[in-house]
Amino acid sequence: MKPCVSVDMKVRPYRPDLHAHTTASDGILSPRQLVQEASQMGVSLLAVTDHDTMKGLPEALSAADEEVIGLIPGIELSTAGEEEVHLLAYFVHPEMKRLSRLLDEISLDRQTRCLKFLERFRSLGVDLHMDDLHIPEGTDCNRPHIGRALVRKGYVSSLSEAFQRYLAVGKPGYIQRIKLESTDVIRLLREEGAVPVLAHPELIRSTALKLPERISILKEAGLQGIEAYHSKHSRSACVYWDGLAREKGLLVTGGSDFHQQGDDHGLLGSAIRWWNTADKDADRLMKLKPVIT
Ligand code: AMP
Ligand code: FE
Ligand code: FE
Ligand code: ZN
Repeated sequence: MKPCVSVDMKVRPYRPDLHAHTTASDGILSPRQLVQEASQMGVSLLAVTDHDTMKGLPEALSAADEEVIGLIPGIELSTAGEEEVHLLAYFVHPEMKRLSRLLDEISLDRQTRCLKFLERFRSLGVDLHMDDLHIPEGTDCNRPHIGRALVRKGYVSSLSEAFQRYLAVGKPGYIQRIKLESTDVIRLLREEGAVPVLAHPELIRSTALKLPERISILKEAGLQGIEAYHSKHSRSACVYWDGLAREKGLLVTGGSDFHQQGDDHGLLGSAIRWWNTADKDADRLMKLKPVIT
């Protein structure tokens, strides 16, 4: 797999969307469909950042070549529970052996967790079976698979309601994922040659984990950027995180976090709304792209 397509000159000025999901994790578009949709929406630089997997990247890279848009191979890793923090990593590659091993471990955990979900829901009087989840071949189980099944079976009327009633942290259907530590993940990503970026910091529930002092700790571990522009960030949050990132000498990035039309996340290209420096910021990120040999 190539680290990134070589069409940089054709996609300036960059209209970036640096955070999006496919059927390889919990999105509903295949990698090829996602790239085509992004191109339709006028996105010229897309990062595919599926949760805990690089499996969608080869198809996304080949589709981006066809559509002549830039594609950054990425991933999103998360710590779990009340202390949940999400990290994006750019320019990842299956040859990153330690990262691949970590992903195998997470995948195994997701498989066991999926069975626990089914048991838990049955104990809650919700009749749910593996076949109801409609998980694509090769994809691991995510909470949205469970939530969409609850909608299809009529237990709730929307994915948001599925989270509010059952799947959110502290609700009866919640089951925690494997525990990771942000600083460990950041160090591993840097050692592997990827570019770690703090995802949608405004959405971090724990106040302590969003303090500037905490960001400094992440930077010391190797953090290189902050996703200041996110579809769920208010305008003032975007301004705040943009300022903090620059003050700390970190890259500024932005993304929609697209999963599917009409859910709680943004539409492709939607994070660019207040991101006036998108072209320059994306160019800074692209300068960190590993040289293709
Ligand atoms: P998991 O990694 O299996 O714990 O699932 C987490 C995923 O659930 C996140 O990546 C989001 O895409 C999704 N999610 C979390 N909260 C909500 C919500 N309120 N509505 C829709 N999707 C959500
Ligand atoms: Fe997700
Ligand atoms: Fe996230
Ligand atoms: Zn995401």
